[in-house]
Amino acid sequence: MVYVDPAYTSQECAECHHIEKKNRVNQALFICRSCGVVAHADRNASHMIAQRGETVWTAGRESHIPATP
Ligand SMILES: [Zn+2]
Repeated sequence: MVYVDPAYTSQECAECHHIEKKNRVNQALFICRSCGVVAHADRNASHMIAQRGETVWTAGRESHIPATP
């Protein structure tokens, strides 16, 4: 169980991580203004949350492993 900050996930491209308000064309459609990827808005956001969760999870695990002397 990890906490993921959902801020800007609906505006951030899951491919190139470009964040722009205009990426979110409307409630359903996401088109990246940087790399041009076209995706369903919620599907793109869920990819972002999954990626962030993995990063937090990995970082948390690494910080709990004591360094070997
Ligand atoms: Zn992109």
